[in-house]
Amino acid sequence: MNPAALLRIAFQCSFRVQRKLLRFAWNGHRAIGAFRRRQEENRPFFPAFWMLSVTNRCNLRCRGCWVEQTAEPCQLSLAQMQGIVDTARKYQSRFFGILGGEPLFHSDLFTLFEKNPDAYFQLFTNGTQLDSEIAERLAKCGNVTPLISIEGLETESRIRRGKGDVFAKSIAGLETVTGAGLFTGVSASINRRNFDELVSAEYLDFLIGKGVHYLWYFIYRPCGRDPDFETALEKEQILALRRFLVEQRRRAKILILDAYWDGAGNALCPGATGISHHIAPNAAVEFCPIVQFTDGFLNEDASNLERILQQNTLLKNLRTFCAEQGRGCVLLEAPRELAQFLRENGAEDSSGRDLLAELETRPPMICHDLPGCEIPETSLGYRLGKRYYFFGFGAYG
Ligand code: SF4
Repeated sequence: MNPAALLRIAFQCSFRVQRKLLRFAWNGHRAIGAFRRRQEENRPFFPAFWMLSVTNRCNLRCRGCWVEQTAEPCQLSLAQMQGIVDTARKYQSRFFGILGGEPLFHSDLFTLFEKNPDAYFQLFTNGTQLDSEIAERLAKCGNVTPLISIEGLETESRIRRGKGDVFAKSIAGLETVTGAGLFTGVSASINRRNFDELVSAEYLDFLIGKGVHYLWYFIYRPCGRDPDFETALEKEQILALRRFLVEQRRRAKILILDAYWDGAGNALCPGATGISHHIAPNAAVEFCPIVQFTDGFLNEDASNLERILQQNTLLKNLRTFCAEQGRGCVLLEAPRELAQFLRENGAEDSSGRDLLAELETRPPMICHDLPGCEIPETSLGYRLGKRYYFFGFGAYG
C-alpha cells in the first residue's frame, strides 16, 4: 500500500471525520471477530455488516439497475431502520451500507445518522443531490462516508444513466463533499464500454486530483428490466481488472476496494460467507441486493429480524447452496439452478418484477471466479487486510 493514500486522509479529512473513521476501524475489527466466533462456535447467525436499501425512489433510471421504482415510493421507516441498527449493535455489528434508489431522498436519513454516533454508514449515492447544505450536515455527523457512483466519463455516463448532465452533477457533488473534509469514495461497475476509461492510472489520478480517498470497483451485473447483457465483461477483461487492482494497490495514492477476492486471489461471494446480507425498501430480508428473494419481511420496528435470520431457513440454505455452486456470483454463473433452488425452497420474489422468470431465461455468464487464474495480492497491507477481514469464513470448507 502506498502510505500516501493514508496520509491524504490525515491531511484532507476533518478531525471529526478522522476520529469517527478510527472508531469505525476499531468497531469493524470487533464486528469481524464477533462474526467469526459466531460462525466457528455455531452460535445464532447474524452478519457482520448490513446493506440497507432505504428507498426505491430515484431521479435516474440507469441501465442494468435492479431497483424497481414505483409510482408511490417504497421505503423503510425510521422505526425499522433504527430497529435494525439496535439489533445489530447487540452483535457488535455497527457498519451499514445505505443504498437506494437514491438514499438522499429518504427524509429521515439524517435522523438515523445523528441518533447513532457509534455506528458508521457508507452512503451509496449518485452524487446529484450532494449540495453544500447536505455536505455540512454529513461533516457534522462525521460517521458517514459518501460513496459516489460514477459509471463512466461524460459519454458513458449519459448512455448508462439516460441523462446528459449526470457526470457533471456527480463531479460537482464529489467536489462539495471533499471540500467539506469528508472521507470520500467513488464506485464504478465496470463493463465493456467503460473499461478503458475507468480501469486506468489516469482515472485514478483524476480522482486523486478531486480529493477522493478510495475507489470501489464492482463488476457490472446485468440486472433489472433492462439488463444490457452485451456489455458484461469477458474473462480476459475480468483478469485485466484483477491485475490492475493488484498493481495499483502498491502504487496509487488512493485506497482501492473490491468485494470479490481474498488475499490469495480466490473468489468469494459475500452473501455465501454470510458476512453481509441485504434489506430491501419493502422490508424484505434478502441474501444480497440482486438476489431479491425472501422468506421474511421486517415488522414495523424490525423486532423480528433475529427470528427471520435464525429461525427461517431460506438464507441459511441459500448460503450453503451458493457455496456449493462455486465461489463466484450465483446469479451470473447459475441463474437456472438458482431459480430451481428458490422454487424448491418456497422463496418469495421480493423484486417487484417476475425475477424467477428472468432467472429462467437469462444466459449463464462468466464472473469473478476463474479457477486456475488466481492472482494474489502483492501489497502486504492489502494481503493482511484481506487475511483478517475478507476471506471465506468457512463457507467454502
Ligand atoms: S450473489 Fe453475486 S451479487 Fe450477490 S453477494 Fe454473491 S457475488 Fe455478490
